[in-house]
Amino acid sequence: MARMKREEWYDIARDVDWTLSYVDEEAAFPEWMTGAGKIPHEAWKSWDEPYKCAYPDYVATQREKEGSVYAVKAALQRSNIFKTLDEGWKSTAKQHFGAVSLIEYLAVLSEQRMARFGLSPAWRNMAVYGALDEIRHTQMDLYLAHEFIERDPQFDWALKAYHTNEWGIIAARATFDGMMVNPSAVDIAIQLPFTFETGFTNLQFVALSANALDSGDISFANMISSTQTDEARHAQQGGPTLEILMKHDPKRAQWMIDKTFWVSARLFSILTGPGMDYYTPLEHRKQSYKEFMEEWIIAEFLRLIEDYGLKKPWYWQEFVDGLDTWHHSLHLGVWFWRPTVWWKPQAGISKAERAWLQEKYPHWEEQWGSIWDTLIKNVNEGNMGGTLPETLPWLCNLCHLPIGTATAPNNPKYPVRSYPLTHNGYTYHFCSTVCRQIWWEDRDTMNQKTVVERLLTGEIQPADVPGILAWMGLTPEVMGDDAYNYKWAAEYREPAAVQGGDHV
Ligand code: MN
Ligand code: MN
Repeated sequence: MARMKREEWYDIARDVDWTLSYVDEEAAFPEWMTGAGKIPHEAWKSWDEPYKCAYPDYVATQREKEGSVYAVKAALQRSNIFKTLDEGWKSTAKQHFGAVSLIEYLAVLSEQRMARFGLSPAWRNMAVYGALDEIRHTQMDLYLAHEFIERDPQFDWALKAYHTNEWGIIAARATFDGMMVNPSAVDIAIQLPFTFETGFTNLQFVALSANALDSGDISFANMISSTQTDEARHAQQGGPTLEILMKHDPKRAQWMIDKTFWVSARLFSILTGPGMDYYTPLEHRKQSYKEFMEEWIIAEFLRLIEDYGLKKPWYWQEFVDGLDTWHHSLHLGVWFWRPTVWWKPQAGISKAERAWLQEKYPHWEEQWGSIWDTLIKNVNEGNMGGTLPETLPWLCNLCHLPIGTATAPNNPKYPVRSYPLTHNGYTYHFCSTVCRQIWWEDRDTMNQKTVVERLLTGEIQPADVPGILAWMGLTPEVMGDDAYNYKWAAEYREPAAVQGGDHV
């Protein structure tokens, strides 16, 4: 029997809207779930995805992709490569597994919201594939991480992390809940596929895939490239939705993009920045985090939003300036508070690495050098207490990252301080005027207590470092410690001390 060409039936097959007779439109598609706002119903007829995909194509392609990921994994006997992998790379992988695996699952729920409440049948169709994609990503991440658990219990955090109150996870949860779970279908499309998946997942997946390959973790590289091919397809739900929103409510479109870009940039400065500039072994670094952001995010993203008639976010210069400081500050913080994370942060400040940092970031020594020198001195004198925290830093009420990490020491333009706001008799603190403004606009929806607020209200007992670690779910065998057991600090010892032998 002759088969019709796809172009001949595609438009009919995906047009599954019909006139509802048992319920009214508002009951089936309530505004608070669809997010239609000022967009008239007829406007959705023009929703058109640039890359067409029918169900038989989808399953055939996905089956092939799955086959290849699992075949590579089986051939490489991943458990045998564990010993050959660098600790710095393992930290990057553990951080990724913990912070991302269950976010892939959260994305299933976002896709399903669009698959149910998107106002165009073509869009709902694409979102069904998106939901299936995200199930696949969750499964691949958890499967690969699982294989290493018996060698290193920190890999257990691939599944466990989001079930704890670990502080970085609270930050990620606050950000992703605001982007992926709380919003309507339209707002999800603008925040997740358009801003986050088009802008930021490229960075996490493309850069990380290159680092994984260089570090010899071919299975991981293969897994995330396979993930990225799906992301590229379902991310296209953003464009057509944005096009319609721009015609009817451009102000809302601009706001959703501005705020999502900012919270994503804050999160990536801890999720990706330290991995690229500190954990990756020097010989495997191709680009600095800043260079990668400039190429993949700044250039690409600006071109993209300008194509849609949007303006640069109002804080653009502050974001660009932050590429010199945010992730350095967060890396320092993560290393110092290392028992509070589920990976082993590699300090990444041997003399050679410092020279590289100074070359890539000309103010690095001026801003961070003396702080690291003090830590190094304490390590070399055996004063480990001087390299570890006694309490927690104040956290931002919006991004949940430490206050002071949107700034840098010795930086007159962005002095280290809090940006407070008193509302209903309570004073909130923010890392930047941008976080403060986003919080103010969204004050009725996004409001999670920070770890420090929970500490001060007595939710965490005993209110000391051991109590905090237990509350965060960090048991002794998974608490982070220096990736190389402080060996890198030896080259900073006085020559006489080196001759005198090992007194560390
Ligand atoms: Mn995904
Ligand atoms: Mn996705």
